[in-house]
Amino acid sequence: MKRKAQKWGKATIMAACAAFMLFAAVFPADAAPAGVKTGKETGVRKRIALVIDDFGNGMSGTKEMMALPVKFTVAVMPFMPTSKADAEEAHRLGHDVIVHMPMEPVRGKKEWLGPGAITTDLDDSEIRKRVEAAIDHIPYAIGMNNHMGSKATADERVMRIVLTVCKERGLIFLDSRTTEHSVIPKLAAEIGVPYAVNNVFLDNSYKPAYIAKQVNVLSRQLQSRSDCVVIGHVGPPGLYTSKVLRSSLPALQRTADFVKLPDIVRGLPAFPEGLRL
Ligand SMILES: [Zn+2]
Repeated sequence: MKRKAQKWGKATIMAACAAFMLFAAVFPADAAPAGVKTGKETGVRKRIALVIDDFGNGMSGTKEMMALPVKFTVAVMPFMPTSKADAEEAHRLGHDVIVHMPMEPVRGKKEWLGPGAITTDLDDSEIRKRVEAAIDHIPYAIGMNNHMGSKATADERVMRIVLTVCKERGLIFLDSRTTEHSVIPKLAAEIGVPYAVNNVFLDNSYKPAYIAKQVNVLSRQLQSRSDCVVIGHVGPPGLYTSKVLRSSLPALQRTADFVKLPDIVRGLPAFPEGLRL
């Protein structure tokens, strides 16, 4: 990328995160399809895939999140000062690593996205180049999810290129689900990219009480579904989110196992439980 990582200070990224959290629409699919069995009925343990976004810029809560006593997925923004170090540390600790790809939102400034972002005004070859460069920049990446992206993930031309590159590189894709108009599930199934969809954002508000409330939303969803993908963030809410998670883990682990993201998406091209459109 032509732009230098140093150009993107913490304040910029925190502003971007704040904007994302203000504007991100949350679309938890509360209702489980008829016929979905609960753990009580089947004796099968529920599964939670925890994903923490926005690593790569030395953000608040990085150390505390990494030290959580469960395995989770570390989503690292490319071309940032600590991108490679965070990915390497996550891998060393046994966490999975994915590329947290900056993508254009409907609202907000493009410069909040950070270097190498995918915007809908780019031509096909530039999009491909940026996706390939981002994957090359993050060691140990086994997948990708979108940072922001309420505009780009609803754009079929853009997402077809992004997902085709993921297919070529053998990556899975997590739809962070920042718009109800996302074309990711449809295109991923068509192209043959294993994918999952976020069910719960933990920390759209930075207040500990809100984050605790979202943990309850997660618990409630687990009553009616077998798998749940949940996304939290380092950055402005990072210290709170890591603290709430740490104290909530024992209760969550009574009914569910924390699994890796690929465990949730396993089984394509059939549609396993856990994939909710
Ligand atoms: Zn993000």
